[in-house]
Amino acid sequence: MSRIAYVNGRYLPFHDAKVHVEDRGYQFADGVYEVCEVRSGRLIDERRHLERLKRSLGELQIRMPISTRALGVILQEVVARNRIGYGIVYLQITRGVARRDHAFPSREVRPSLVVTARALNRSRNEALAEQGIAVITLPDNRWGRVDIKTTGLLSNVLARQAAIERGARDAWFVDEDGTVTEASSANVWIVTPAGTLVTRHADHAILRGITRTVLFDAIKAQGLAVQERAFTVEEAYSAREAFITSASQIVLPVVRVDGRTIGNGKPGPVATALRRAYHLYAEAG
Ligand code: PMP
Repeated sequence: MSRIAYVNGRYLPFHDAKVHVEDRGYQFADGVYEVCEVRSGRLIDERRHLERLKRSLGELQIRMPISTRALGVILQEVVARNRIGYGIVYLQITRGVARRDHAFPSREVRPSLVVTARALNRSRNEALAEQGIAVITLPDNRWGRVDIKTTGLLSNVLARQAAIERGARDAWFVDEDGTVTEASSANVWIVTPAGTLVTRHADHAILRGITRTVLFDAIKAQGLAVQERAFTVEEAYSAREAFITSASQIVLPVVRVDGRTIGNGKPGPVATALRRAYHLYAEAG
């Protein structure tokens, strides 16, 4: 079956799904995006993802090209047309097509909207979570507003590639104080030797992950202690458990950081239990 993408008002076969060379997303990464998990053909946490999308657009003064309701219909339609049972739906809005100039184009320029969807391999994801992943740490050299979910991901791209070249699966960014900010496309958590969950407070230095937000409800329900604060790489090395969270991986255990074994080198009970419980607290559309 050929894949279908939504591009500025039309559902097109992938081969024909194109944007103009002067789209500001292409020229300047002048745009934002969202990724939602799809389970049993239903969008997970769509409401929260669309709320964050509106916030990102607002911070960049890009207008929403259509209503939230119409966007919801398109997301579902792209999932259905691609017959996605388990996977992700991706949406991107850029400032639109205009002659290349750093300043914003005139208000008549319509933002571009693209939606794609693809299936994920569930058994492969489960196998990965059962095994846990290795990560490396790298200096966080991103801009100061990574709380906005922009398509400008060059540092994230280079970090992920560096991780792979060093035999790891992902990279954690570390700021100038030696504290961990987040992973290349996920939030970072540790479980201290005393059993307290720790994740960085959400300011301008991390993206406020939807999975992160929902996980607080699961943590509360399980009666676990949690702190939102910065933690150092050293603290992570001596953690009992570590894991990352994102819409496409939910809770993914981390068993090695910079070649040091975390806990006993296997996914821990806290991460495993939270991974299992997550969808009791998420909203399924
Ligand atoms: N941080 C970054 C840099 C990300 O790219 C992502 C995933 N989009 C996250 C955190 C996790 O966000 P979410 O749980 O909403 O997928």
